[in-house]
Amino acid sequence: MTSHNYVAENIYRIKKQLNNDDILIVAVSKTVTSETAALALEVPGVELGENRVQEFLKKYEYFQGKAKIHLIGHLQRNKVKYVVGKTPLIHSVDSKELLDEIQKRSAMSNVVTNVLIQVKIFDEETKFGVDESAVMDLINHNENNPNVLIKGLMTMAPLTDDEQLISQIFGKLHDIYVDISKNTFYNTHMVYLSMGMTNDYMLAAKEGANILRIGSAIFKDIP
Ligand SMILES: *Cc1c(COP(=O)(O)O)cnc(C)c1O
Repeated sequence: MTSHNYVAENIYRIKKQLNNDDILIVAVSKTVTSETAALALEVPGVELGENRVQEFLKKYEYFQGKAKIHLIGHLQRNKVKYVVGKTPLIHSVDSKELLDEIQKRSAMSNVVTNVLIQVKIFDEETKFGVDESAVMDLINHNENNPNVLIKGLMTMAPLTDDEQLISQIFGKLHDIYVDISKNTFYNTHMVYLSMGMTNDYMLAAKEGANILRIGSAIFKDIP
């Protein structure tokens, strides 16, 4: 048993650094137990993030549906049925087929599911995420999906020390987000820009992110 909540301390340190209460911190708990994840929830406004459906469900059951747990990792179509109705936001939609499956399962459960489109910027290598040029395709396609609400965009920066490149990528996603916001589409309401992790969250915040997905910096125990 720890006598102090080091997880909450880490979050408060990050919040002080950010100095912006409009940014939602998603504490990525994929490497820790539900008991440790619970420490993050002691900070008001903080929500959890999981990248795999199996671990998502484990934590969902532990918290008996009372914690908000974002699904931030790649989602296979055949697993959509396990998460619909249980998550405030799926960050990682990257195909029309996935949108349609979420529509189908959400309609069956009579819910509206909030999603972000995962975009890859200047990136040929990553498997997941759509190219910038395909984002509008998905938004147009989703006009026929009344049970899926696209609430914004998400990206992951590549693993690199090149801060200029990372900022450029985040800035680019912000530009796309602003451009889309200028028009009106059925079933799209641009309010979230999810970018920034442990190594680059300050850069992301500077480029306009309002959701940060932070794991290691929150759950590491600094003696
Ligand atoms: C693990 C993960 C994060 C958090 O990564 P850290 O570097 O530990 O902050 C953010 N987003 C996604 C999609 C992840 O899988």
